[in-house]
Amino acid sequence: MRARRPYHRLVNSHAPENIVASTWSKPLLVPESIPERADIVVIGGGIVGVSAAWFLAQQGVDVVLCEKGHIAGEQSGRNWGWVRLQGRDTREIPMMQESMRIWAGLKDAIGEDVGFTRGGCFYTANSRRQFAGYEKWARIAADHDIDTRLISGPELKLHVRGSAVDWTGAMYTPSDGRAEPHLAAPAIARAAVRAGATVLTSCAVRGLETSGGSVSAVVTEHGVIKTSTVVCVAGAWTSMFCRSLDIDVPQLRVRGTVARTAPAEKFLDGTVFDDRLGIRRRQDGGYTVADASVLECPVTPSSFRYFFKFIPALMQELKLIRLSIGKDFVDEWSTPKKWNLDEVSPFEKTRVLNPDPTPGVLKGLRRNLDKVFPQLKDTPIVETWAGMIESSPDVVPIIDSIDKLPGFHVATGFSGHGFGIGPGAGKAVAGMLTGADSGIAISAFRLSRFFDGSPIRPQAGI
Ligand SMILES: Cc1cc2nc3c(=O)[nH]c(=O)nc-3n(C[C@H](O)[C@H](O)[C@H](O)COP(=O)(O)OP(=O)(O)OC[C@H]3O[C@@H](n4cnc5c(N)ncnc54)[C@H](O)[C@@H]3O)c2cc1C
Repeated sequence: MRARRPYHRLVNSHAPENIVASTWSKPLLVPESIPERADIVVIGGGIVGVSAAWFLAQQGVDVVLCEKGHIAGEQSGRNWGWVRLQGRDTREIPMMQESMRIWAGLKDAIGEDVGFTRGGCFYTANSRRQFAGYEKWARIAADHDIDTRLISGPELKLHVRGSAVDWTGAMYTPSDGRAEPHLAAPAIARAAVRAGATVLTSCAVRGLETSGGSVSAVVTEHGVIKTSTVVCVAGAWTSMFCRSLDIDVPQLRVRGTVARTAPAEKFLDGTVFDDRLGIRRRQDGGYTVADASVLECPVTPSSFRYFFKFIPALMQELKLIRLSIGKDFVDEWSTPKKWNLDEVSPFEKTRVLNPDPTPGVLKGLRRNLDKVFPQLKDTPIVETWAGMIESSPDVVPIIDSIDKLPGFHVATGFSGHGFGIGPGAGKAVAGMLTGADSGIAISAFRLSRFFDGSPIRPQAGI
């Protein structure tokens, strides 16, 4: 397939005062016109979509990526920034191992620093029982040559200093890391453009055209792009997009409220998950923090539609779940399920899904932070935000070709841990689309597992 030359202006987008919000509010790449055709169209400019476009462009594929808002405007720019193998569902391990290799070489490969560093990942234990519970995953790690080990409370305190909590110990993976979400996907998008991809922002895909039952074009808000191959990597919008094509992709949304602190003393280098708190060191010297004791689940019409498929995941997280019913229900209820392709679609009406952080959760977060790390008591929180996490019923991705609509593919359901696995998933998606061997098996991620009577068994949480 032939390579094409990019024709976009690059706009650099970071206001120093509001690091995270600035990623969402300014375009990265501005379209000047819409190409008439492409070998492959990627719908969605999150970490998975831009990584897929980057790998495709490197293979010489004429690829166009359409993003309704801004690159990394949704989950990929709002997440905690953890890049970990630790605690993963075994089905994800090979793809995550490949992703780790990509992260490790990313700076050299794209010529930009996205803040990837290996500071280790710690899951703390507050009791002997919780500590013993980690043994099962530590054995899985050993089977996969992952450097996870269980460490004692005193050893933990050498890595995570100054905590007021007397932990029993922790599960620890030294090679796990972190990266900066507001940097990573935009930098990979720029690399994709340099490799020959066309990246269009403020360009929602409204739907598809077909010919003889197969995909023949995408219809965007700015015009039609003829193509025979499309992948929908639309994050929290994938289920809605697919439903408009009569394709059922079970997916629910969970709200995540997050905060970052001002720069402070370095008492840990990586990521720590305690019952009350998720915290990681940031490249700017602050900490990204979230309350780990709540899972905010807005009830929507989809909650009823997919209730039975999500029972195993809900049971697993039962103690953490905080249900709410309100605006999210009304918003989904009032959104049309189908629309004419020559009219404004729901994707243009919500350019960037930008939920409000929940005030009660922010209060709990501050309380927990001060309790666990009293050395941060006087360190102010300087930015807060929220993101809608999309989850599949078994909390692992769906990466598949859709038999009933030849030429159409989906990659979604990254279930709260798709940032770290994003580059590897992008490579796997590129392989699925071109038939090139990515070295990553994706059969475990087939969509039909939710409809063919296979047991739905989450192995890990959101
Ligand atoms: C609060 C929070 C914390 C998290 N923490 C972590 C973490 O620490 N580590 C980790 O690995 N993962 C984490 N995650 C999960 C991770 O962010 C996601 O799994 C990952 O970013 C998903 O990437 P994506 O490319 O699939 O989707 P997204 O980043 O959601 O991108 C999808 C894009 O598609 C676009 N789009 C949708 N519909 C259309 C359309 N019709 N036309 C054009 N564009 C469209 C959207 O605008 C969006 O930009 C977290 C998520 C959240 C919200």
